[in-house]
Amino acid sequence: MLRVAVVGSGPSGVYTAQALVEQQTVPDVQVHVLDRLPCPYGLVRYGVAPDHEKIKSLQNNLRAVLEHPRVSFLGNVHVGTGGLGPEQLLGLYHAVVYCVGAATDRRLGIPGETLPGSFSATEFVSWYSAHPDAAVESFLPGARSAVVIGVGNVAVDVARILARGADELRPTDLPQAALGALAESQVNEVHMVGRRGPSQARFTTKELRELGTLPDAEVAVDPAELALDPAFADTSGLPAVNRRNVEALRGWAEQPSRHPARRIHLRFFLRPVALLPSPSGDRVAGVRFERTAPDGHGGVVGTGSFEDIDAQLVLRSVGYRGVPLPGLPFDAERGTVPNAEGRVLRDGVPSPGEYVAGWIKRGPTGVIGTNRPCAKQTAGALLADAPTLTQRPVPEDPREALRRMGQEPVEWSGWQAIEAAEAELGRSLGRTTVKIPDWAGLLGAADGASYEPSPSRSA
Ligand code: NAP
Repeated sequence: MLRVAVVGSGPSGVYTAQALVEQQTVPDVQVHVLDRLPCPYGLVRYGVAPDHEKIKSLQNNLRAVLEHPRVSFLGNVHVGTGGLGPEQLLGLYHAVVYCVGAATDRRLGIPGETLPGSFSATEFVSWYSAHPDAAVESFLPGARSAVVIGVGNVAVDVARILARGADELRPTDLPQAALGALAESQVNEVHMVGRRGPSQARFTTKELRELGTLPDAEVAVDPAELALDPAFADTSGLPAVNRRNVEALRGWAEQPSRHPARRIHLRFFLRPVALLPSPSGDRVAGVRFERTAPDGHGGVVGTGSFEDIDAQLVLRSVGYRGVPLPGLPFDAERGTVPNAEGRVLRDGVPSPGEYVAGWIKRGPTGVIGTNRPCAKQTAGALLADAPTLTQRPVPEDPREALRRMGQEPVEWSGWQAIEAAEAELGRSLGRTTVKIPDWAGLLGAADGASYEPSPSRSA
């Protein structure tokens, strides 16, 4: 039997497990999918926005894999700093596949970035996704205008959540505290700002168009700003997604205002140069941008003219970044683990039994489905190596060894108990399932305890 640990139960981890057990070449592959959290599904649970129910329903496909007879989910198993290291894992499994994603955010590196009121989009996403490590409890008090820096799909997600009314979010699994905060939100202007042109924005058209469907908000686009993009006049040379994006933006630019409760301003050719403090210096009051112009090679150059946009809330949505795992090689430039077709390279040479898949393998790009071929490639490499890997003896069931190493795995039944507790919490609040937002609540629920919101941090 080939015993494999997959570290991370997000899409790349689960697709890797699936590719390992749903094949005929190597019979009897046993996979343990380990996760630091007691809950599976990674960014599908803790990244996909709560109002994207269709994408969230992918959890059902991932669930089927984690319930496969030769796949076991072991949550609450910590790999990395303060937890298990690569050597320990290789003592327990023939092969280890790291599918740990890109856990942190990229920085802007400009003055004022850390002023109170300025957050990474990942912090905001963690908050509305009820991630138990979410460190910020309140984003919105006092904010009327928000700036979202970046024009990728995460920027679209956070702008949309800011612009949706709480009533629209009530039927989702948004944590109760976030729902309450959004119900009281005074934010009525959301500025989403790209440093390059509309034809170079990273969002996808479906996500972009959705902004125009919000009942109490409208999208505002300045036609003069769109016209700064040479591709605006003639979109024929653009890839389909960029062409469709430009067409959607053109439609909004031509549309008269309905004067709704909230407006989402889509801005382009503005690069952030500083976050501006309030007069007392104690929080952010705006963002200074430099107007840019196309450099003719896909990039932009500064023009020396500046524009300030008022904002009491700034969300920096400029992409994710991989985090090094102690004991594994790391390419700091790319934020990935060096690899060849998924085989981890140590000093340029494949390291026996060590693999990567997903964002830590190829960087934080692509949609969920991109992880499927990526995982398949890694699983293929691992299966090709199986005859060598299985010559090394490993324990028949590493659970006992994991416990001796200080881990207390939450198994599938524990996760099912969390799901039941979240359904019960939703019922008690007159909503559908509502996520439990804290470690104590999740671990207690996994043990069968009923969930009691902590006084400081209600569900
Ligand atoms: P992203 O797609 O890489 O977008 C990052 C944005 O930040 C770009 O507009 C980029 O501009 C900008 N940026 C980077 N550095 C900057 C700087 N120093 N100053 C100003 N702007 C800067 O990243 P993401 O939005 O975090 O998304 C990550 C991945 O998750 C993507 O593949 C995305 O499609 C996926 N995702 C998908 C969905 C969905 O399908 N619904 C939802 C969320 C995320 P430049 O282009 O000029 O670098």
